[in-house]
Amino acid sequence: MVAAKAEAESMKKKELVHSPILTYFSVITLLSTCPPFVILLWYTMVHQDGSILNTFNYLKEHGVEGFVNIWPRPTAVAWKIIACYALFEAALQLWLPGKRVEGPISPTGNKPVYKANGVLAYVVTLVTYISLWWFGIFNPTVVYDHLGEIYSALIFGSLVFCVFLYIKGHVAPSSTDSGSSGNIIFDFYWGMELYPRIGKNFDIKVFTNCRFGMMSWAVLAVTYCIKQYETNGKVADSMLVNTVLMLVYITKFFWWEAGYWNTMDIAHDRAGFYICWGCLVWVPSIYTSPGMYLVNHPVNLGPQLAISILIAGILCIYINYDCDRQRQEFRRTSGKALVWGKAPSKIVASYTTTKGETKTSLLLTSGWWGLSRHFHYVPEIMAAFFWTVPALFDNFLPYFYFVFLTILLFDRAKRDDDRCRSKYGKYWKTYCSKVPYRIIPGIY
Ligand code: NDP
Repeated sequence: MVAAKAEAESMKKKELVHSPILTYFSVITLLSTCPPFVILLWYTMVHQDGSILNTFNYLKEHGVEGFVNIWPRPTAVAWKIIACYALFEAALQLWLPGKRVEGPISPTGNKPVYKANGVLAYVVTLVTYISLWWFGIFNPTVVYDHLGEIYSALIFGSLVFCVFLYIKGHVAPSSTDSGSSGNIIFDFYWGMELYPRIGKNFDIKVFTNCRFGMMSWAVLAVTYCIKQYETNGKVADSMLVNTVLMLVYITKFFWWEAGYWNTMDIAHDRAGFYICWGCLVWVPSIYTSPGMYLVNHPVNLGPQLAISILIAGILCIYINYDCDRQRQEFRRTSGKALVWGKAPSKIVASYTTTKGETKTSLLLTSGWWGLSRHFHYVPEIMAAFFWTVPALFDNFLPYFYFVFLTILLFDRAKRDDDRCRSKYGKYWKTYCSKVPYRIIPGIY
């Protein structure tokens, strides 16, 4: 009871990282603009040749009615595709074998337990999908041809799902890591439960974030490639570079999935619109959008340029992976693992849990983590640039994800700094004086 009360207090603080007016404004704006934006992006990519100006002129001429007309209604085919995919992924999550992995200790002292079967689920998904196409059982072009209806169904279905999460958080939370901020909009937007589950084993955030969201990114990347092949009889090198880089990134994600369960998305952000709707709708639509654009723009880069972009992109993905790996190895070995061949420099930081217990954490201040406090966001953003640049510069829209990611990660770095400052106090101050830059060494 005491822990739950302290949790609710920490929830209230969490919402007010920015000023209250700014927080309300941004939450309401995001809730109301993200769903129509997904439809506009898809419509512009698929029906307006990726040109924002064309869509703008269409809307100027036809007004709100024109916008309602382009919004596809969810059809039976769309619901069937989503249901088959979701059930398949849920079954893999539940039944494929995997090592038992423990997540970090939560603010109220719980330790979530997971089954690490992400790589197997990823391989089974892609092999099944490509085999269905290869053996003529299901053609992925059907997914591309019904993409607007699928996004429409996802938008509404995921909103209903977030209402379910809100009600579950109130009436049947899965653990003590749950609480209300006392504000219905924030509870819906940020979520109430940190680790919601269905039964003992089905973790909802692993499903929404990893097995539905991230997996759909890989499935759609392959879909776009196949669509271009079926339309043109070949795949342009720009599409190949884009697909290979995205797949390398997603393979890295599943390889490191158990590490992801230690990050902010899972260990700090609750299951609400922000995380769950984001992963169920925003990831399959916005994150995949450079590939969506390339389907109808088969640019030929030539081998030299294509290979250079590919190598640069893979290097960025590797550095991003190595940053995450370095931090996690450092924590896992209690600061004993060598960092860049030397003993790591570190800060032993103590903090008080919401239960009033004093605990310590180690903060790494050398290696990638000595360059800046969130250096890993630099290669993450650069990788997104490299899988988009094969689209060249005729239109801005394929770069939307790159711009969005840059804003998201700069905001995230601030949110994380604020959270760590209030968690570690003077120890975080010492870290900031040792590593003064937030993201870009020497600049910011
Ligand atoms: P991190 O994995 O960077 O986790 C941040 C946490 O790490 C902090 O809250 C703190 O947690 C701990 N920490 C901070 N500094 C140190 C340090 N010096 N030494 C040890 N521990 C430290 O956060 P993210 O979840 O943002 O990033 C994880 C990965 O996901 C990255 O690769 C990122 O690029 C990627 N990402 C991708 C996004 C996308 O949309 N494509 C969006 C967000 C992330 P504690 O309380 O445990 O001390």
